[in-house]
Amino acid sequence: MHSFEQNFDVIIVGGGHAGTEAAMASARIGAKTLLLTHNIETLGQMSCNPAIGGIGKGHLVKEVDALGGLMAKATDKAGIQFRTLNSSKGPAVRATRAQADRQLYRAAVRESLENQPNLKIFQQACDDLIVEQDKVVGVVTQMGLKFYAKSVVLTTGTFLGGQIHIGLENYSGGRAGDPPSIALAKRLRELPFRVGRLKTGTPPRIDARSVNFDLMQEQPGDNPLPVFSFMGKISDHPTQIPCYITHTNEKTHEVIRGGLDRSPMYSGVIEGIGPRYCPSIEDKIVRFSDKNSHQIFIEPEGLNTHELYPNGISTSLPFDVQVALVHSIKGMENAHITRPGYAIEYDFFDPRDLKQSLETKFIQGLFFAGQINGTTGYEEAGAQGLLAGTNAALAAFEKDSFIIRRDQAYLGVLVDDLTTLGTKEPYRMFTSRAEYRLLLREDNADIRLTELGRQVGLITDQQWAFFNHKIENIELEKQRLRSTWVHSKHAALAEVNKLTKTPLQREHSLEELLRRPEITYSQLMEIEGIGPGLEDQASGQQVEIQVKYAGYIERQKDEIERTMRNENTRLPVDFDYSQVSGLSNEVIAKLKEFKPETIGQASRISGVTPAAVSLLLVCLKKQG
Ligand code: FAD
Repeated sequence: MHSFEQNFDVIIVGGGHAGTEAAMASARIGAKTLLLTHNIETLGQMSCNPAIGGIGKGHLVKEVDALGGLMAKATDKAGIQFRTLNSSKGPAVRATRAQADRQLYRAAVRESLENQPNLKIFQQACDDLIVEQDKVVGVVTQMGLKFYAKSVVLTTGTFLGGQIHIGLENYSGGRAGDPPSIALAKRLRELPFRVGRLKTGTPPRIDARSVNFDLMQEQPGDNPLPVFSFMGKISDHPTQIPCYITHTNEKTHEVIRGGLDRSPMYSGVIEGIGPRYCPSIEDKIVRFSDKNSHQIFIEPEGLNTHELYPNGISTSLPFDVQVALVHSIKGMENAHITRPGYAIEYDFFDPRDLKQSLETKFIQGLFFAGQINGTTGYEEAGAQGLLAGTNAALAAFEKDSFIIRRDQAYLGVLVDDLTTLGTKEPYRMFTSRAEYRLLLREDNADIRLTELGRQVGLITDQQWAFFNHKIENIELEKQRLRSTWVHSKHAALAEVNKLTKTPLQREHSLEELLRRPEITYSQLMEIEGIGPGLEDQASGQQVEIQVKYAGYIERQKDEIERTMRNENTRLPVDFDYSQVSGLSNEVIAKLKEFKPETIGQASRISGVTPAAVSLLLVCLKKQG
């Protein structure tokens, strides 16, 4: 009999955004990895809008890329409209966003997975976990096959106990067209994790041939085109096409109000809590009843399809109401709906039951990543997947976990928020969640993270060489700016005076000139005798930001250093808080419930005061 490979270092369950990054990361580190998923055709499938990035989310994508992940590269190959959001604001809040061709995105993800050494893919549902003495040792598939591994990562998205709602009708499903994960959900509920229900929704899709674009506002992509991956090139992008903007109106709102009695959300059929920042259209009409119009972005689903994604009208209203509401919108009076909108409710597990490595606190070797942890969004899922896959592989090799702190990355903020505070509603990333925003920019994600990634084996030789070359060029250019002086006899003085508006009174280094708010790096480099400077636009931008914001950046680094002194002091999971004299019963109860791993985590639990943190530190020191 032929043998079938059944023993692995790491098994990843689920081939969505968390699962694919987890599988790639684990395999890059050198772990023998199995990706087990319902359907190979849906690897990297975007369940909702075909877009990657945006504010806070784009930062995560760049961080995944800086750590060798695939999301940014796949988006460069699939993006059909690219924009830099907040381009007129400071660099900390600038963010890249791309509309993606759904099929091209899936193809790019699949190509990467299929060509990744150490990675095998198998199409089957995982129905059960094999757990021995609180340690996971393998999984059982729907047809009874057993696979064994030292670590298992669950990335099952919206599929656990998934229930789809359209009006008052509902049925089981993982997302439209896919089966739910019922057996695994039942098994997980037997384990000691805290479980809850969340919900999310999606709009009806529209046939572009039935839409009148003349009545809408065209929204082209940016020029020059942004790229997502640090190693990406504009030539990686496929053909670019525009999006469109239209609006809801009083009639739309009337139609929606008329259908609320048959809404699963407003009639109590749905119990799960939905994403506050990505509400359904019925939610918007009820919550913002004074607004008589909401913007809708009409986004193409791809280059070779007529389907459109109307971003802003996610709904679970009955289908007849969906038809009427779509037809009330300017340009969509005769629109044909290709797929109804719906909401989905699913199980998620309280992320406070996870360590910062994303390993569960109760079952050794079992990791969770993505929507299963209460987050929403491809980017949040991908970033967690990369971290969980990395740690699953490191655990299999009995190495220390890879932990990313809040001051190092949005990924650190995401994991710390989830594991310390938990979440009651689908969690999405925003720049406002990061206290060290000035340091955690999209543009420097590689500078923040690539070396850390290299240390644990996530970065290929090619990426490492590319990164070092870039850093060297930036440093050399900064040195040149520091040591080149524009004086009264300098050939470029007249041109420089045009930029400064008032003539220079003394000699100035190029670095001093670049620090002035009215002068940009590219303007300086256009001057003969000063330029041409760095050819690579991203490196030039990096020089400019590092020079212009040096003072702010230093101040934020000092602040981090001060906080860091106690941040990493470890608290044992079984620490007896009742023995700490002076702690209130409320604080003791909170610490027992959250089980923080570090003093830093403890300090972020609401109700744990700075005074309580001092008492903890004193107690730890005494035990020392
Ligand atoms: P998914 O992408 O859901 O992937 C899960 C994968 O696991 C799938 O491949 C599935 O087949 C596989 N799987 C599940 N169970 C098993 C099993 N037992 N065995 C084997 N394989 C299994 N995000 C937003 O940011 N904004 C939105 O407005 C938004 N709306 C959404 C609307 C809907 C209807 C849905 C379904 C999702 C929406 N999302 C939205 C969420 C977004 O799709 C997810 O955040 C993201 O896809 C999560 O990635 P993931 O990898 O955790 O899970």
